[in-house]
Amino acid sequence: MNYFRNDFRGTLFGTNEATDSLRRRSLQKRILVTGGAGFLGSHLCELLLGAGHEVICLDNFSTGLRRNIAPLKRFDTFRVIAHDVVEPIDLEVDEIYNLACPASPPHYQADPIQTTKTCVIGSLNLLDLAARRGARIFQASTSEIYGDPHVHPQVESYWGNVNPFGPRSCYDEGKRCAETLFFDFHKSHGVEIKIVRIFNTYGPRMRPDDGRVVSNFIVQALKGEDITIYGDGSQTRSFCFVEDLIDGFVRLMASPPSLTGPVNLGNPAEFTIGELAEEVIRLTGSRSKIVRRPLPVDDPRQRRPDISLATEELGWRPKVNLAEGLAHTIRYFDDLLSRSMRESAELV
Ligand code: NAD
Ligand code: UDP
Repeated sequence: MNYFRNDFRGTLFGTNEATDSLRRRSLQKRILVTGGAGFLGSHLCELLLGAGHEVICLDNFSTGLRRNIAPLKRFDTFRVIAHDVVEPIDLEVDEIYNLACPASPPHYQADPIQTTKTCVIGSLNLLDLAARRGARIFQASTSEIYGDPHVHPQVESYWGNVNPFGPRSCYDEGKRCAETLFFDFHKSHGVEIKIVRIFNTYGPRMRPDDGRVVSNFIVQALKGEDITIYGDGSQTRSFCFVEDLIDGFVRLMASPPSLTGPVNLGNPAEFTIGELAEEVIRLTGSRSKIVRRPLPVDDPRQRRPDISLATEELGWRPKVNLAEGLAHTIRYFDDLLSRSMRESAELV
C-alpha cells in the first residue's frame, strides 16, 4: 500500500515516461544505501529505485527488517548485501548514503560499544570507500549533535551541549566524531561530502517495538494500553514526516559540491510530549489513559530546528503537518497490528 500522497514522486522526479527513460539513460547512478532496510533507509531506497537508479542496500539487520524492503525486489536494479559497516567493504559505486546506525534510544543503548563502532569505524570504512571510488558520500547525522541545547531553536553553527559519557553518549559522540571524519576526509582527500542533521522523524515502517515516542504512543493507543509519558511531558520535540525528510536528502545529495552541510532537516513546529499524547488519543479515538514514567537520564528538554539554511540552499521546507503525518502513520500501524492479530488467530 502506498501511504504517501500521489504527487510524492511526481513532484521530485517527474511522471512522464519519456522523461523517465531519458533520465534513466543519462543520469542513472549506482547508489549504496547503508542501513537501507531500516525505517528511513527503506523509503530512500524506494525513492531512488523509482527514479531509475541502481540501488545496493547494505544492512546488518540489527534493527532493520526484511519486510521493509521485500516489495523492492520487484526492481531488477535492486540488490541487498547483508554486511556490518564496522567491517571494510569494496564496491563500485557513484554515491553513498550512510544511514547505518540504530536511531532509537533503547536500541542504540542496548549495545553502546557497537553503536560507537558503527558511527566511527563504519563511517571510516565508508569514507575510505568513497575516497577510493571517487563517490559522493552523505551522512545521516542528527539533532543529538546539539545534546540538551542551550540555544533554541538550534542553528547549525551551535556546537551543542553533550555529555561525553552518559547513556546517550555512544550515539551523540559517535555521530559527532563521524562529522569530524567526514570533514577531515573532505579536507585531506577531496571527498565530496553531504551532512544532514535529522530532527525526530516518524512515519510508516517504524517498528512497533522501536521504542521512540511516536511509534510507542500510536501502538499503545491502538492496543488500548496506557500511554507512557516519560517525566512530566513538558519536554519538546519537533516531528517531521518521513516523506518530507527523504525529499530533503535527495535535494542535498544533488546540490553543488560546495554545499557540504551540516544542514538541519526537520519540521520546526514544536510540541510538548504531553501535546503529542493528546493528539494521538484524539486521532485514534483511543480510550487509553496517560501514565507517567521516570524521565530517562540526559533526556533533552527542548528541540526545534532552524531550517533557514535548508530553505535558502535547497528550497526545502516540510509540507506535512503533524495531524496529517500522524494519520498516515496510524493507518500503517493499524493495518500492521490487524494483520498480525489475524495471523496469530489463524495459528491457534
Ligand atoms: P533504523 O534503526 O530503523 O535504521 C537503521 C538501519 O541501520 C537498520 O536497518 C539497521 O539494521 C542498520 N544498521 C545498524 N547498525 C548497522 C551496522 N553496523 N552495519 C550495517 N547496518 C547497520 O533507524 P532510522 O530511523 O531509519 O535511522 C536511520 C539513520 O538516520 C541512522 O543513522 C540515524 O542515526 C539517523 N537519524 C534518524 C532520525 C530519525 O528520527 N529517524 C533522527 C536522527 C538521525
Ligand atoms: N518519550 C516518552 N514516552 C515514550 C517514549 C519517549 O515520553 O514512550 C519521550 C522521551 O523521554 C523524549 C521524547 O519522548 O523526551 C522523544 O523520545 P524519542 O526516544 O522518540 O527521541 P529522542 O529522545 O531521541 O529525541
